[in-house]
Amino acid sequence: MFKWFGKVNYTPYTKVDGFAQHLRDGRLMASRCKDCGAVSFPPRADCEACMSGDFEFMEVSGKGRLHTFTRIVAAPTGFEDVAPYVVGVVDLEEGGKALAWFGESFEEEDIEIGMELQIVPRIFEELEEIKVYYSLERPGTTWTKVGPGS
Ligand SMILES: [Zn+2]
Repeated sequence: MFKWFGKVNYTPYTKVDGFAQHLRDGRLMASRCKDCGAVSFPPRADCEACMSGDFEFMEVSGKGRLHTFTRIVAAPTGFEDVAPYVVGVVDLEEGGKALAWFGESFEEEDIEIGMELQIVPRIFEELEEIKVYYSLERPGTTWTKVGPGS
């Protein structure tokens, strides 16, 4: 299911492919090493601390602070139609960093390094095939979680 993740995906197969399924269900997941407990976001199957390949998913709040951001004018392949757009890197409360687009709850002039943010799972609703991503929103922004089995 990892092919669901992102607008353009060059990684159709990965051991952390459940990440995309959880995003579809409205949950943002990190990985936690079953051997040493190290937490990683984005999730990775192989632990950077102890090299173990034994991991489990762990839901994270998505809360964090803006580390840096930039405006993309010359977009990479597949994103030309949406440029210019703004992306940011967030230091997550639970550890790890997330790179994501800014969502509709921000105007570009309101963006400041160090500000509090909330990562929100999203589905590209204009696309027929399932495509999931996440965006940076103001703290307290809510989203709809899909119930089990739907
Ligand atoms: Zn480990």
